[in-house]
Amino acid sequence: MPKYKTGYSSGSSSAKRTGSRPAPQAKKRRRRSKSYAAPYLALLVLVAVLAGAVFGLHRYLDGPPVQSEQTPPAGTGGSLDSKVEEGESTEIISDVNDETLLPEPPQYTEDGILMTNLENGAKMYERDGLTWLVIDGKEMLLCNKEYSLPADYGDGLTAECQAAFDQMAAAAEKDGLTIWIGSGFRSYDTQKAIHDNYISIYGEEYTKSMSAEPGHSEHQTGLAMDIAGAGGYYLEQEFENTAEFAWLSEHAAEYGFILRYQKDKSWATGYIYEPWHYRYVGVELAQLLWASGVTVEEYVGLAKPQE
Ligand SMILES: [Zn+2]
Repeated sequence: MPKYKTGYSSGSSSAKRTGSRPAPQAKKRRRRSKSYAAPYLALLVLVAVLAGAVFGLHRYLDGPPVQSEQTPPAGTGGSLDSKVEEGESTEIISDVNDETLLPEPPQYTEDGILMTNLENGAKMYERDGLTWLVIDGKEMLLCNKEYSLPADYGDGLTAECQAAFDQMAAAAEKDGLTIWIGSGFRSYDTQKAIHDNYISIYGEEYTKSMSAEPGHSEHQTGLAMDIAGAGGYYLEQEFENTAEFAWLSEHAAEYGFILRYQKDKSWATGYIYEPWHYRYVGVELAQLLWASGVTVEEYVGLAKPQE
């Protein structure tokens, strides 16, 4: 059974709650509890859950999922295990036609792959060896320490990413600053060669903190780059003190880029601070994440606690 959350596992008790939840929903439930006897309320809850399942099936058949604006309370689980009564009143069914009373339906991709619910309403799904995050309805190819790409994935920076960078570089130039891509796309094989070389120089432990294992490099997505600037300090943390970095901090999101490995966030991303590494995620998502002030992993709740 598709896993989804609902606030109705303890419907009759929620109706008794007073004062603690001033949300519109709670008010509606209280109104109902006055006009229906307890057995009817239980039946109403069951019908609401069933209607939610039917509603979810319709959404699945109708096409791609639609982001739900409602986030149900966590920690409650829906159940369809209860015995279904025959001859349910159609009057009650028509009465629960209010979408705000329905549990969140299961969410699927257009190919029917079930999405996992994450924090902040984000979801995650896997297809063809790729892991996608869906944040605020926008998709983002996920590649980090935990989630990798197939060895044959990628063949250069995507046209969209390259165009976005060109626009950003042109805007920086207007402000008197020169930036360029120091390192863009890297294939699985290239990453393997680089990684192996680092290990031979720095040893495994340090290499792990600053270089991705093959298949785990964001550079293989064709959506990430190490940015160099006329102010120097390429691939050095002092890059953060350059005028180019200051400009990027202010404007990168306007062009769809986020600083991926933020300062003091190696516990969340698995990488040291890399003021030069930018990831293209599209303008809307970049601005959302930039404004949140946290890393992608933190935003969706995939950040690993510090070991
Ligand atoms: Zn990089």
